Amino acid sequence: MIPFLNLKKINAQYVQELKEATSRVIDSGWYINGEEVTTFEQNFAAYCGVRHCIGVSNGLDALKLILRAYEIGPGDEVIVPSNTYIASILAISEVGATPILVEPNLETYNIDHSLIDSKITSSTKAILVVHLYGLVAEMNPILEIAKKHQLKVIEDAAQAHGAIYNGKRTGDLGDAAGFSFYPGKNLGALGDGGAITTNDDKLAGKLIALRNYGSHKKYENLYKGYNHRLDEMQAALLLVKLQYLDVDNMRRRIIAKKYLEEIINSTIILPHNPINTEQTVWHVFVIRTKERDRLQSYLLDNGIHTVIHYPIPPHKQEAYKEMKQECFPISEQIHQEILSLPISPVQTNEETAEIIRVLNNFR
Ligand SMILES: *Cc1c(COP(=O)(O)O)cnc(C)c1O
Repeated sequence: MIPFLNLKKINAQYVQELKEATSRVIDSGWYINGEEVTTFEQNFAAYCGVRHCIGVSNGLDALKLILRAYEIGPGDEVIVPSNTYIASILAISEVGATPILVEPNLETYNIDHSLIDSKITSSTKAILVVHLYGLVAEMNPILEIAKKHQLKVIEDAAQAHGAIYNGKRTGDLGDAAGFSFYPGKNLGALGDGGAITTNDDKLAGKLIALRNYGSHKKYENLYKGYNHRLDEMQAALLLVKLQYLDVDNMRRRIIAKKYLEEIINSTIILPHNPINTEQTVWHVFVIRTKERDRLQSYLLDNGIHTVIHYPIPPHKQEAYKEMKQECFPISEQIHQEILSLPISPVQTNEETAEIIRVLNNFR
């Protein structure tokens, strides 16, 4: 069986260093907001090319904290793609603002920037851009629209650690960015974790307080904050894994290149391949076909495990029944036709070749 994602094998590559990191934390006697978190924040900020990184509890909380820090709340609208993981939209709901969904481009699966202008009202405060499946969204036109209407640009970079656009990494492309270190992400912790990156000094100061009960000084509270901290153990483990992020992303690109060159089947539509290959880190490799369910069971019968990212569009979720009447046909089509092939830094050449062979035999 070729697994979709083998986390055990991924982390086994670094087992010695990971165990040393956990021992270091255990022996330090300091488990919250200590040196590991500070060092990770410095290293990840340097990696992204930004002035500030604020470690937080997870990706959803990262996005929520950014919105809170910008004082976006009830009565405000935030533009977000209709084709995204539900967490992007949950963050907007959590602060009491209204998510305004915009259809994706059928080629890139990312937000269609040409549709944003018509959704902007006097209540719009921000565009929450998602770099879905590892591909950076087309930022130049989005940044222009945001400038024209004085909107904040917030990146949901949970699937795109290390991807590059305009010579800059994700996390440095808008006003602030939220990252997730959920174990299956390109940079994954061994538990929950997240981070916010920004070049905005004032925002960073506020976020450091907000993640820690709203406290800027011990036992003094400027804001009604949260407990949304990154813990020392996860920071120590992430420090190990950050060293290998570029190598891991390169391995993903090599597999993606093979898939793009060698999968030849007229029933299968391959993903967008950006001219600048660094624009994507292939968090997942998403193919499309009218016969998705039949293809998925065929692959399973042939020992290949696949996943659908995602089977139900956000506006069709029970949690968002107020949106059920809204119409997002492109998003719905994507959700019906997509299938994610295995792609990971530990996938062998033999596994990749077998996946290609089986796919090319699908009739
Ligand atoms: C994983 C993910 C999140 C949420 O991150 P968590 O750490 O699981 O809270 C948000 N947005 C996108 C696009 C994601 O893929």
